[in-house]
Amino acid sequence: MPRRENPYAGMVEGLTDARFGEPSSVVAARRCREQVGFGTFDGAAEAWKPDPRCPWCHHGHNHRDSSTPSGRQRWLCAECGRTHTALTGTVFEESKKDFPTWAHFVRLMCHNAQIDLAAEVCGVSHQTAFEWRHGVMATLGAYQERMALRDRCWIDEMYVEDSALRNTPGYRPMRGLSRNQICISVAIDVHKRPVAVVCGHGKPSGKRVGDALEAHVAEGTTFLHDKERAHNPLIRAVRGTSIAYKADTRDPDYLEGMKMVDSLCAWIRRFIEGYVGMKQEKLQEYLNWYVYLFRVKRADERWPKTARVLRHLMLTDARYRSSRKR
Ligand SMILES: [Zn+2]
Repeated sequence: MPRRENPYAGMVEGLTDARFGEPSSVVAARRCREQVGFGTFDGAAEAWKPDPRCPWCHHGHNHRDSSTPSGRQRWLCAECGRTHTALTGTVFEESKKDFPTWAHFVRLMCHNAQIDLAAEVCGVSHQTAFEWRHGVMATLGAYQERMALRDRCWIDEMYVEDSALRNTPGYRPMRGLSRNQICISVAIDVHKRPVAVVCGHGKPSGKRVGDALEAHVAEGTTFLHDKERAHNPLIRAVRGTSIAYKADTRDPDYLEGMKMVDSLCAWIRRFIEGYVGMKQEKLQEYLNWYVYLFRVKRADERWPKTARVLRHLMLTDARYRSSRKR
């Protein structure tokens, strides 16, 4: 049987450089639609945000107004009279790149791709990729702030090298849980919801553990832990119950709980180490992203993660504004 010629080969080869982008963008939009449900910002906005709130006064139920020069639906706020589109106030607002490019970028972020790789694959500059990543992390990282663990909760501390200190003149590494190590308080509840909060340098005091975790744990929680005394103020503050681990390897509950916390610490460590050149002052932002992704990935079967992240980005006000415009 003769090999079938690709009917588009001649057409695509015959295009000028100026026209070549046109079929590619149609193909990208179609592929994006198959992967995340929509191929354009406008298609996604109609489905995910059919009645966008006013980004200035938060009034809902607004009126359809004219369109922007690019054909995007404009809305007129019934309360304050200002106009907006579904993208106003989101990370997408000032972006010149299309929805499939963002979908691609978000997918790479879900795999914790390095900035250079994401910039290369998405065809944007390093600076743009850097700003997009920061915008996404800052917008969705707020998710952890509202997280309250409950029922049964395992808590522990993990330590990471403070790489910033290594560049300080006269730095000499010390052994053990020294002040060269950044402490991260980690917790995970029986519903498999994690929390990870930077808790200063070196072994933490009770106050530091309390400051890190108190806002993230519901009242009356039962804590399973290694009986570290620094956990006690936290447990008292939320009127919790303390159960110390007994290192009983025949107890399935003990093994299960230990495994959950140990795995969480190992995953977080691997995640942090994957980001080459991460600035330590940004560590909490990365941990917030980790916690967000942990939840999104758990629901991946029911709801593919890239689509879910894109939808959250469209529905959430971006707190971040481009550093170049300030
Ligand atoms: Zn308004």
